[in-house]
Amino acid sequence: MYDLAKELFPICRSLTGEGVRETLRIIQREIPISVHSVPSGTQAFDWTVPQEWNIEDAWLEAPDGHRFAEFKKHNLHVMGYSEPVDCRIPLQTLQSHLHSLPNMPDAIPYRTSYYNRNWGFCLTHRERETLADGIYAAVIKSSLKPGKLNYAELIIPGETEKEVFLSTYICHPSMANDQLSGPVVMVELVKWLLSQSRHYTYRIVFVPETIGSIVYASRNLEALKANVIAGFNIACLGNDGYSMVHSRARHTLADSIAKHVLEHHIGHYTEMDWLDRGGDERQYCAPGINLPFVALWRNVNYPEYHTSLDNLDYIKEERLKESFTWVRLCLECLEMHHLYDSKILCEPQMGKRGLYRAIGTEALDDAIRTRMNILSYCDGRSSLGIAHMINRPMWEINPYLKELEMAGLIERRP
Ligand code: ZN
Repeated sequence: MYDLAKELFPICRSLTGEGVRETLRIIQREIPISVHSVPSGTQAFDWTVPQEWNIEDAWLEAPDGHRFAEFKKHNLHVMGYSEPVDCRIPLQTLQSHLHSLPNMPDAIPYRTSYYNRNWGFCLTHRERETLADGIYAAVIKSSLKPGKLNYAELIIPGETEKEVFLSTYICHPSMANDQLSGPVVMVELVKWLLSQSRHYTYRIVFVPETIGSIVYASRNLEALKANVIAGFNIACLGNDGYSMVHSRARHTLADSIAKHVLEHHIGHYTEMDWLDRGGDERQYCAPGINLPFVALWRNVNYPEYHTSLDNLDYIKEERLKESFTWVRLCLECLEMHHLYDSKILCEPQMGKRGLYRAIGTEALDDAIRTRMNILSYCDGRSSLGIAHMINRPMWEINPYLKELEMAGLIERRP
């Protein structure tokens, strides 16, 4: 995962443009996604697909002739969607086009102006403070033209048409945690899913944030509404901490499963309300769309966020692996989520089935106690509900449920 992040890191991504296509081509080499194109100007609910933005080069030149804020040295130096410019202006005028962070003087900030035509440069505050008065040259060799917005999709069929929906974004330039961690964990999850037998169908998308998820929802609304039983926005998965953002409806299966995994697999985590939302869950849970969709993030309140310090040193392979396991567990729990009924009135006689101790002793061992506890809640309840009642993770009680089913003591509702 880290190697893939390293390969994707230098690419200048945005809502549209060659950087997104290159990113999707590299992902396509790993997993069989199909890439879709939507022309600029296409209406998607209240939004319009913007013009395509591409950039070749950009720099500022000081009065003494030295170049700085060079796009080729760091793509964050140029504000995303900057219109082309080639001018000479005094520092005073240039200042209104410069962005830096006084409280993080060594970081280049990430800035965009997608829907207002503008141009700008981002640089470290330390460098900005050294700028002497005089006339500066500002050059941005970009283009804003009718083109297309690209996103990628993969439908992995299961036994049922009911779907689990996974979404991540591909629109940020060179940043690691808040960009590449989501797609690289997604690629790994897809490889894993393809190697499993699946009850559910899996719908995987890589979209530019906001406009991409709105476009996607507008083109797939009926299928999403008819089939999605749980969805997850996965992003910012390469650092410490664990958090989830609840769906707008708050008590959907996705909410309960995500919380169950956090409680039993992680322990310490931040549970955020819908009011704390930030990513594409905003669109997928919106009124009228209303999908059971939650966000899974590690720690999103980190100082390096949306700066050049969110780089490959900031994320760790170990963290990416933990995130993979975390999301995988959520999917496994969904797959093992069924309703169970006991087939026998009163306690079944477990001894004659070899499911009880042979000799009566003072206490029941853990396995017998767990088996009996599970059995006592097979009253049409779900495996998640049973796990909750006996305070054990679903992945621990699942083998018992299978054993009890094999022994003919319980049955799974279809
Ligand atoms: Zn971001």
